Amino acid sequence: MQETRRMEVRNLIGGRWQVAGGRETEPVYDPATGETIAETPLSTGEDLDRAVRAAEEAFPAWAATPVVERARVLFRFKMLLEEHFEELRDLVTLENGKDRNDAAGEVRRGIEVVEFACGMPTLMMGETVRDAARGIDNVSYRYPLGVVAAITPFNFPCMVPLWTIPVAIGAGNTYILKPSERTPLSAVRLGELLREAGLPDGVFNVLNGAREAVDAILEHPGIKAVSFVGSQPVAKHVYKGGTATGKRVQALAGAKNAMIVMPDAVLDKAVPNIVSSAYGNAGERCLAGSVLVAVGDVADELVGRLEEAASALKVGPGSEEGSQLTPVIRDSHRQKVKGYVDLGEEEGARVVLDGREPPREEGFFMGPTLLDNVTGEMRVGREEIFGPVLSVVRVNDLDEAIEFTNASPFGNACSIYTENGAAVRRWRERVEAGMLGVNTGVAAPMAFFPFNGIKGSFYGDLHATGKDGVRFFTENKVEITRWLSE
Ligand code: NAD
Repeated sequence: MQETRRMEVRNLIGGRWQVAGGRETEPVYDPATGETIAETPLSTGEDLDRAVRAAEEAFPAWAATPVVERARVLFRFKMLLEEHFEELRDLVTLENGKDRNDAAGEVRRGIEVVEFACGMPTLMMGETVRDAARGIDNVSYRYPLGVVAAITPFNFPCMVPLWTIPVAIGAGNTYILKPSERTPLSAVRLGELLREAGLPDGVFNVLNGAREAVDAILEHPGIKAVSFVGSQPVAKHVYKGGTATGKRVQALAGAKNAMIVMPDAVLDKAVPNIVSSAYGNAGERCLAGSVLVAVGDVADELVGRLEEAASALKVGPGSEEGSQLTPVIRDSHRQKVKGYVDLGEEEGARVVLDGREPPREEGFFMGPTLLDNVTGEMRVGREEIFGPVLSVVRVNDLDEAIEFTNASPFGNACSIYTENGAAVRRWRERVEAGMLGVNTGVAAPMAFFPFNGIKGSFYGDLHATGKDGVRFFTENKVEITRWLSE
């Protein structure tokens, strides 16, 4: 086996990259080979305190920097991201395992948030009403909050940090990123590029680590707001812990997304789209379609076509041209996903395609799994699996499909495949999910709209990205004015 060069993962505090002397570390693997490619330092509360102090020191000058100048740094950052696009894409593939197309899509979506935040002079505008009362004008101004933090997951190591970095710093906050300890490399590169873009020291800091670092963030009185993206139990923990110490918190959580297929769906186009939603990125997307709800007599033909399409997927490393089913993030995660397939079988699901036997010797690969005759009572029909497993639920009509979907504690995304506008309208008005896809299996997030999970997929009030993101990272002052000489 070829020896891989270890990459260095350091903390960025106050503009200085700090080596992880004396700290415990956690290995970072290339999921396609299983080799260790780096070690993530597990930062402590003391490390966090240093980062907060650096961010606090940088805050007054950065908040007082005219918004057009802050935006100019973002414009330079955007140019650097374009220049290093392929490098960032390959870094995502290396540490996460997803294929190059998916990785390129992730970097592109992230850049779009930077582009959105380049409009910060407009986004920061307050509101005015002249003559709110006789001779009295009413104005609101937007202000940054201070030091804010973001805690991000392994599955989008470049895009999810970029959901908040440009908006938070563009609005004048200083920022601490705690990336996933399983995928820290993209975050380090973003930090280097932000420095190259001319961001002053201490405005953007990277604190590597895991649970201890997160809990220190929740407790630190210097941090005003926390943006979290990750699994549901941790989202709840972060929301409770952060709000208990008076912070503003948005916590984007897990998912169990249904894809409803109506009898009139255009199957030739729907099936490849469904397969890509369920198995793309090895099912490790919070917008992945995880349950296929087949309505009426479409089920038999649909399951047959899905079996054929899914079994034809090319399993291989994300860096290899044409790979469609890439590895999951860790062997421990693979064991968990396999456990769910065992459970589904025990619960009475029919295993149409069985991906439990690793299709490749090295790395953390699984084959595609397709389960039929799944019901809402089964755990495989209710819980997030986060792997290349698609469960088929059979229902009689649209109302039953919506009822099944709404019984889920999650409400991240839902898709419908049909050419019937009335069915789409009925579904949209009644379904309990915040990201909706019509004839598309991934209701992809756009920078200018909020990422809008609801129910157990989100804790908080203001979502990430779009105008919600700007409101999350700012607060208002409302001023009322009269002139006594008038
Ligand atoms: P995770 O919850 O394990 O980790 C997320 C972050 O929390 C990481 O930075 C990690 O270090 C930290 N963390 C983990 N366990 C912790 C604990 N016990 N205490 C404190 N901090 C802890 O999530 P993940 O496995 O990295 O990511 C996958 C999950 O994220 C899936 O559930 C997926 O649906 C979800 N996700 C949601 C969205 C969304 O927009 N709603 C987007 C991407 C991912």
